[in-house]
Amino acid sequence: MARTRTPVVSGWFTEDTAGPEPAPGAAPPGPFRLLGTRCSACTAVFFPREDAFCRNPRCPGDGVLAEVPLSPRGRVWSYTDGRYRPPAPYVSDPGVPWEPYTLIAVELEAEGMVVLGQAAPGVGVGDLSVGMEVEVVGGVLGEDADTTWLTWQFKPVGGAA
Ligand SMILES: [Zn+2]
Repeated sequence: MARTRTPVVSGWFTEDTAGPEPAPGAAPPGPFRLLGTRCSACTAVFFPREDAFCRNPRCPGDGVLAEVPLSPRGRVWSYTDGRYRPPAPYVSDPGVPWEPYTLIAVELEAEGMVVLGQAAPGVGVGDLSVGMEVEVVGGVLGEDADTTWLTWQFKPVGGAA
């Protein structure tokens, strides 16, 4: 029985990858993008998405928050071996024992923010350096009997991994 591919949190990234599991070795479908929201009054961008009200204290107000895809690439701001369960907005299943992963904090220059994410499989701290360009890709957080949970990951641009 095929597992359903389900975003670990709805609305935080493009869900082009949702649907039947691709055949082993098949190219992943669609460009993968993180989704945030942008305030129409002050242009501040929020990730995780903020749909209720603009959190910019200097916002003139009366803005509308609209969904925007975030930059597909950013630069490594910091990274670490994830030997502990990271805080929100990093998403993980508290019911599953924490497995160490490489975590990367990526600076998105256009949005003026740093986004935390797991490195793609095979990318370790030895493959990374501060300032290195990385891109966001879809990845698998975990699987259970009937669901493949999808998340976002970062990997160096140029295919070091
Ligand atoms: Zn605003």
